[in-house]
Amino acid sequence: MTERLLNDFSTRFADVEENLKRIREAIAEAARKSGRRPEDITLLAATKTVPAEVVNHAISLGVAHIGENRVQELCDKYDAYAPVDLQFIGHLQTNKVKYLIDKVSMIQSVENERLAAEISRLAVRAEKSMDVLVEVNIGREENKSGVLPEKLEDLLERIAVLPGVHVRGLMAIPPARASEAETMQFFSKMNQYFVDIGAKRMDNIDMHILSMGMSADYAMAISAGANMVRVGSSLFGPRHYQ
Ligand SMILES: *Cc1c(COP(=O)(O)O)cnc(C)c1O
Repeated sequence: MTERLLNDFSTRFADVEENLKRIREAIAEAARKSGRRPEDITLLAATKTVPAEVVNHAISLGVAHIGENRVQELCDKYDAYAPVDLQFIGHLQTNKVKYLIDKVSMIQSVENERLAAEISRLAVRAEKSMDVLVEVNIGREENKSGVLPEKLEDLLERIAVLPGVHVRGLMAIPPARASEAETMQFFSKMNQYFVDIGAKRMDNIDMHILSMGMSADYAMAISAGANMVRVGSSLFGPRHYQ
């Protein structure tokens, strides 16, 4: 590494450390306010565009779960990562599942039966089962990933019979331009689906993980019931796309 790069990284390392401390405090406070313990909330660091060196610094500070968005970027950084629980959180094309099946512990972005079936096929071939979350298009946005809410239960029933896939919960990203009040309503609706479906005790469907909330709104998501938040820019700083 050149000296300049080392200097760049050392500034970023210090920022990450400070940001992580602040985020952990905010998570703990939001958890307590909603009657839960800080350790009931899982922090997943969203690592898109962030160099592996910087992510590894976060891992060294105790970040135990990271999420990548793009298959190519995940594969590029995979060997450089320190040991960590690696998940996939981005839009996933069926023909790219093969690159992930032996690399990630969970795919958070299952939105249709075809994708779930391909994950199952490849997981069975690898003699494993893949944990997944079903992504819900809670804001009913066009061109947005996720199953529409009214189709969620039907999709869960179809996925439940697949031998290589284990549904662990739900994931959602509310519309970016929603007001705070609207975002809170979307989070609350998600929590309602999560609770209602959990109460049905569907075969082979667990409702243990509700993944929602990002840098701008993770405290709100926790207060609405999220137990996993995916935080990127407020941990690593603004993203620099190449
Ligand atoms: C980028 C991303 C995040 C984190 O977003 P920030 O606003 O940077 O915290 C969370 N979830 C998904 C699916 C993402 O793509």
